[in-house]
Amino acid sequence: MCYDVIILGAGPAGLSAALYAGRACLKTLLIEKAMPGGQITLTDEIENYPGQLLEGENGFSLTERMAKQADKFGVEHAYDTITAVDLSGSEKRLTGMKGEYCAKTVIIATGAHPKPIGCENEAEFTGRGISFCATCDGAFFRGLEVYVVGGGDSAVEEAIYLTRFARKVTIIHRRDQLRAVRSIQEKAFANEKISFLWNTVVEKVNGVDVLNEMTVRNVITGEQTVIRADEKDGMFGLFGFVGYEPNTALFEGHLPLERGYIRTDEDMHTAVPGVFAAGDVRVKSLRQVITAAADGAIAAMQAAKYIEDM
Ligand code: NAP
Repeated sequence: MCYDVIILGAGPAGLSAALYAGRACLKTLLIEKAMPGGQITLTDEIENYPGQLLEGENGFSLTERMAKQADKFGVEHAYDTITAVDLSGSEKRLTGMKGEYCAKTVIIATGAHPKPIGCENEAEFTGRGISFCATCDGAFFRGLEVYVVGGGDSAVEEAIYLTRFARKVTIIHRRDQLRAVRSIQEKAFANEKISFLWNTVVEKVNGVDVLNEMTVRNVITGEQTVIRADEKDGMFGLFGFVGYEPNTALFEGHLPLERGYIRTDEDMHTAVPGVFAAGDVRVKSLRQVITAAADGAIAAMQAAKYIEDM
């Protein structure tokens, strides 16, 4: 059976595309690796999505409602990892670990994943002190010291969130000015649990079983400092929020990419007819839930138009 639309990825872009495609009576399949929601489910507090709950909205609660809304319009779900694509013909073919899928159009909404911090021994200590999700792992560091790498909105917001659990939170940033928006910066500067290590990068992490030592370097002076966990703590936490990388490995050689992101026009068309991209995976200036949701709606309407014109 060939669907009208297959949507890859069930974050805000994919869920919004599913809502619009389902509501346009297109036979729609939403393929996701595991749980719907995408990256935003890792966010503990959302305060800038218009119409959201004013108190207590998080990424999980918001996308859970988006998924229910799409389901109202008969969207089908598959939980699979796509390993190969053939997008060239009028019927697009996707090969997953569990099955083969066919559609007249494909909307790529595969999003992005956190970039590694880039220090020595990082992989070895990921899950043993190093984390990329404060909402998931913050509670493991109750009463301990925590370091956060990065200076953008994510790093500063998550540092603030981590002060709920950690005794002290230190933001390590490679420059002497934060990139985060002013309102978030001000909250961090006013939080007495947060301090800053400016012009600094993490070079190496170490420990016995768990993370309890790291070497940082001042990028101006070149001076290296070894930071060790308090003896009574035995470990500290290190959270990386140094940006994201798009999930586009599957499309290399199939679609033109720019620094790994998919290029589209303003109507979400990629260079391949019948293939659209929406959300964080595409080249754009503002990666937010609202822009992802808008992309998804446009992509679905363009897919409907493409099928009509076929
Ligand atoms: P980002 O804005 O790209 O910031 C990444 C930060 O990590 C920057 O401060 C960057 O330093 C630093 N960095 C990058 N590579 C590094 C490396 N190799 N070593 C050390 N530091 C490194 O990423 P983000 O904060 O995850 O935000 C991504 C997007 O989501 C942005 O558009 C952001 O506005 C949005 N967002 C919005 C909200 C919100 O509206 N509430 C919340 C979270 C995220 P430099 O500053 O020196 O480049």
